[in-house]
Amino acid sequence: MMKLFDLHGDTGYAVMKLRAQGKQNIINDFQLKKRVQGGFQWLCSASYFEGSETWEDMQAMILALREEIALCTDVKQVHQAVDLEPSAQLQMILSVEGMCGIREDAEAKIDWLYEHDIKLASLVWNEKNALANGVKGDFNSGLTDMGKCVVKRMSEHGMMIDVSHANEKTFWDIMKYAQTPVIASHSNARALCDHPRNLYDEQLRAIADRGGLVGIVCAGAFVHRERDKQTVSQLVKHIQYLKQLIGIDHIALGCDFMDDYDNAQDTMLTDLNSPKGAQRIIIEMRKQGFNETEIKQIAYKNAYEFFQRHLD
Ligand SMILES: [Zn+2]
Repeated sequence: MMKLFDLHGDTGYAVMKLRAQGKQNIINDFQLKKRVQGGFQWLCSASYFEGSETWEDMQAMILALREEIALCTDVKQVHQAVDLEPSAQLQMILSVEGMCGIREDAEAKIDWLYEHDIKLASLVWNEKNALANGVKGDFNSGLTDMGKCVVKRMSEHGMMIDVSHANEKTFWDIMKYAQTPVIASHSNARALCDHPRNLYDEQLRAIADRGGLVGIVCAGAFVHRERDKQTVSQLVKHIQYLKQLIGIDHIALGCDFMDDYDNAQDTMLTDLNSPKGAQRIIIEMRKQGFNETEIKQIAYKNAYEFFQRHLD
């Protein structure tokens, strides 16, 4: 089985959702087994906020996620590069998706996130917030002054910035102001599927040019417009496209499995809706002519080496 590195899963969100239903030991009882079955060794575990949450909500989710990881002996939280080394445990890197809870005192809040081991964060989800504009926000506005402050502070701490969900203006503003590498943790090629969550060629090239990564995402709507073409085979066509556009070194996986809190049957791929089936991507890459070196790079090596380089 090929080891896998996933740049995006909403683990923190799943923890809060299932806790609200009275469940406990969520990572251990709901998530771990499927991840291990699928071959996952590393996962960027996001605390996800859609736009209405407060700073206290953000803190609560991040603390709950840390608590759940600590409860689970088969999961290890990554603090520094050395923690990435392959082991019997699933390794979780903490990330944040959307920082809508930051409306004032931005620098102190980024410091709190940094102190709580958030290594990767996106400023915005789909809707506008105090920092930036998402794909559903105003086309003409990007980073706000507070958003620029946040990018600067994150750069000072060496925190990586995730541009998935940013609108185009925000994307290019981040490219201008960020001093650290930039990742699109879960986005596909817009040339193959014209969805605002996907990236144009020049955006993909810009990420590659500054040494970043693009995580290919298994959400059906970002793979193909037609439901019957939302398949692993079509997903691998996005990988083919990226390979010829930006080269194999900048491609990774950012699956975004939603099977613990959403109707994954309808929103993920028709033939892949749970992490336990993720090796299907590997099998399909072999079928479409990728060699083993390339497959290994996409499966985990590019992301592994990226975080090795950039985590202190
Ligand atoms: Zn997302």
